[in-house]
Amino acid sequence: MSIKNNLLEIKSSLPENVTLVAVSKTKPVSDLLEAYEAGQRIFGENYVQELVEKHEQLPQDIQWHFIGHLQSKKAKLIAPFVDLIHGVDSLKLLEEINKQALKNERIIECLLQIHIAEEDTKFGLDETELNDLLNSEKFKNLKNIKIKGLMGMATFTENQNQIKKEFLHLKSIFEKISILNSNFSILSMGMSGDYQLAIDSGSTMIRIGSSIFGGRK
Ligand SMILES: *Cc1c(COP(=O)(O)O)cnc(C)c1O
Repeated sequence: MSIKNNLLEIKSSLPENVTLVAVSKTKPVSDLLEAYEAGQRIFGENYVQELVEKHEQLPQDIQWHFIGHLQSKKAKLIAPFVDLIHGVDSLKLLEEINKQALKNERIIECLLQIHIAEEDTKFGLDETELNDLLNSEKFKNLKNIKIKGLMGMATFTENQNQIKKEFLHLKSIFEKISILNSNFSILSMGMSGDYQLAIDSGSTMIRIGSSIFGGRK
């Protein structure tokens, strides 16, 4: 299957309210162009340097999402152009993104990452930490970032019930927060292996890499 066919097949199966982020980390610019020519405009990258280089080489109407774990000191490199930062999980990082957004006279949209997996290797906030962050005075003073929703990654397991349980947990947190916060519209969950379950559980944004571009080394 070609990148184009993979992409069109996935797209045709998605409900209207679900946005597809094509995760292109480690893939060459030619692969991204193939997806671009098939109509894809939203791409997700995990590494700052790679994102910066691809942004320079590819068409300017691409919307670039940063989906990796962003180090504060690198926020300035993507602040001029990044469209959405998915994996934010600390006030310190938000403050840095806000500072860099201000320098660029932009408002940068972000998602807060929630820890839903069993593995403790994955980043993210728990529900209490999320609420503390959203209610803090420091957060309320950040005028150049906008939190658009939440992001999470399920445990890497074959156990569908467990994955489903974790996605539903994230969805329930999302619902509670969105009642109070009208900016909340994005729930980013689901990757190649689990996006159907994620959509069934209320995802509005899926991040698909290998099912579009093939496996990574
Ligand atoms: C790599 C990555 C993806 C895509 O993974 P696939 O299994 O290749 O679809 C999605 N989200 C994040 C955060 C990733 O790092």
